[in-house]
Amino acid sequence: MKDNITGNSINQIRPQSFSDFVGQEQQKEVLSILAKAAKKQGKAIAHTLLSGPPGLGKTTLCRILAEEMGTNLVEMVGSNLEEPKQLQAQLAVIREHDIVFIDEIHSMNRNTEEVLYSAMEDGLLTYVPQMESLNEIMKAIGLGGSSTRAKTIRLPAFTLIGATTLPGLVSAPLRSRFVTTVNLEPYSIDELKEIVIGAANKMKFSISEKVAEEIARRSRNTARLAVGHLTWLREFCFAHGHKATLETARQAFLLKDIDENGLTKQDRSYLSMLVTTNAPVGLGSLAASLNESIQTLEQTIEPFLLREGYIRRGTRGRVAEQKAYELLKGVAA
Ligand code: ADP
Repeated sequence: MKDNITGNSINQIRPQSFSDFVGQEQQKEVLSILAKAAKKQGKAIAHTLLSGPPGLGKTTLCRILAEEMGTNLVEMVGSNLEEPKQLQAQLAVIREHDIVFIDEIHSMNRNTEEVLYSAMEDGLLTYVPQMESLNEIMKAIGLGGSSTRAKTIRLPAFTLIGATTLPGLVSAPLRSRFVTTVNLEPYSIDELKEIVIGAANKMKFSISEKVAEEIARRSRNTARLAVGHLTWLREFCFAHGHKATLETARQAFLLKDIDENGLTKQDRSYLSMLVTTNAPVGLGSLAASLNESIQTLEQTIEPFLLREGYIRRGTRGRVAEQKAYELLKGVAA
């Protein structure tokens, strides 16, 4: 689930520098120190793991780092690297001080992951030349090929930035090869408001502070949602020829079933199942009845409900808290 914003390119809205990136002050400080130290020593930035829920800015921070360093950025997604040769082919052509970004690094195949161990630790890439595509690349860059014995080449100094929404699933050997881990935190309402105002300016969409706050309150502490909600409001206003007033914003969110606390129809169905069952419900049963994956429940729906005190995790399953009972009192989910 990535950016689904059309019209104004998401890349125009995405912060381009640390000063443009709202919040995460300590995390930005750590990253800019790493960048400064690397620049001063003419080295690549130390391998870094960025962790935190989806939509908090991991990809954005990695792009800002590449921009700050003036280096090339090679972006990949862990789940797409099904075979070691896919990663080997990408690593074989990196240049000095490149940043290699692997999103959702915990979802990488274990055999592929092993390629990273010696690449990160010793700067070595071992491959078996019968892998055709890689063999062609090796030949093209003058490193020969054709033999079927494993070959090892020395890689230029590079930085691996891994991003993960599930740090617990990053294997110990991989985790130990990162010099630093930076954990991103959920945004406060004030920070989200600032993100919304910044994004609205970039979109040349005029909104008041009150409207920005209305959006921020519905954004579940997540930057991506704030930008997504703002984009929806802009489309809504354009389509109806309305100004972005508080009333228009409320209508726009009502149409999308997003309530004033950021709860969606899906959240209410989730809570309704717990409230009507009135006993612990297993994650598998919740996923089946909501027609969602367990992963989506765990990563997207539950963190906010847990943080806001609507539910708790019991030993026998999920349990509704008083706040959920109050929310659903007399409300059709
Ligand atoms: P992640 O990689 O953690 O899933 P992204 O970096 O893709 O998150 O961020 C999602 C969107 O949210 C970006 O396109 C960007 O516009 C916006 N965004 C994220 N963090 C911030 C921030 N701190 N300030 C302003 N905008 C942000």
